[in-house]
Amino acid sequence: MSNLLALIKGKRQEIAAKRLSRNLNTSKPPLGISYLRVFPNPANPDDVFYQAFGMHFVKTVEAGKEKKVAVLCKSATHDEACELCEGIMEAKAIHKGNKAMDEVISEMRASRRFLMNGTITPTPDITTAEKTELVELPQTVFEDVLKLIEEDMTDEIGEPLSAENGYCFKINRTGSGRDTEYSVSPSRKDGKMAIPAKLMAETHNLLEFANSQFDINKASQVAKAIGAVTGVSIGISSTLSLPATGTDGTAAALPGFSSSTTTTTTTTAAAEAAAEAASVEYKAPEKTILPDPEPPVATPTGEAVNQDDLDDMMKELAAL
Ligand SMILES: [Zn+2]
Repeated sequence: MSNLLALIKGKRQEIAAKRLSRNLNTSKPPLGISYLRVFPNPANPDDVFYQAFGMHFVKTVEAGKEKKVAVLCKSATHDEACELCEGIMEAKAIHKGNKAMDEVISEMRASRRFLMNGTITPTPDITTAEKTELVELPQTVFEDVLKLIEEDMTDEIGEPLSAENGYCFKINRTGSGRDTEYSVSPSRKDGKMAIPAKLMAETHNLLEFANSQFDINKASQVAKAIGAVTGVSIGISSTLSLPATGTDGTAAALPGFSSSTTTTTTTTAAAEAAAEAASVEYKAPEKTILPDPEPPVATPTGEAVNQDDLDDMMKELAAL
């Protein structure tokens, strides 16, 4: 294929993927027992099959109506500086010792999660899946999955990621909210089957999806909401100097956002998985030392947030 043709083909795929990405919903393992089949990277089975991902969620009031706003966290997703994370760290430092505020501020943080193509089915039979899902796992569950994949591949027990000979993982999710627990185990026998070609053909572009969740207006709204609660004013003006985004308002033009599956690596999936497993210790934002945080504009106390709001927020977050 000529370079130009490859370029055109790539661009068309990119545009189509972006259009689809924005309104996609992620799937999470439901309460109880379910079976997760992780798909390999559709472009190269030896390449990474996952994407780090994190969002900041806040509640805000617009025209007297309460609404939820969410925006991509550049730190949790791309390990890049995130103004929102920095503002949240500053707020934590300022309100240190105020338990109620600490709770509220902690909920504004973006937890790192991982996206991958796959299916979540009620039985180990993957053929019952109607479509390929954009699976979203909390970091701890993702670590468990990686560990199991690594173990089986190392011991040559099987290749859970193989499209032909792979198998699914049984996930048991119990509890709710902060007491949610997951146990993960391989379903090597019942769950072993080829991924249907139809499903392999409709995988999602993980990076496109992640980047489509960034929006400068939403980032501003989230910054404002954090400021209203914590008194910390977050300047996200630097983000405004980004190259203009496409007319569809997505963040494709963000610097450092490489385009899709071209981020090739020479390591095998297993080596990658091992490296990732060894390095996934989430860099908690508060460990970073801020250069002289500016004094807050206002310093509201925890009373600004009433318990009902807090409960609601907790419930919503738990349901995510
Ligand atoms: Zn962030």
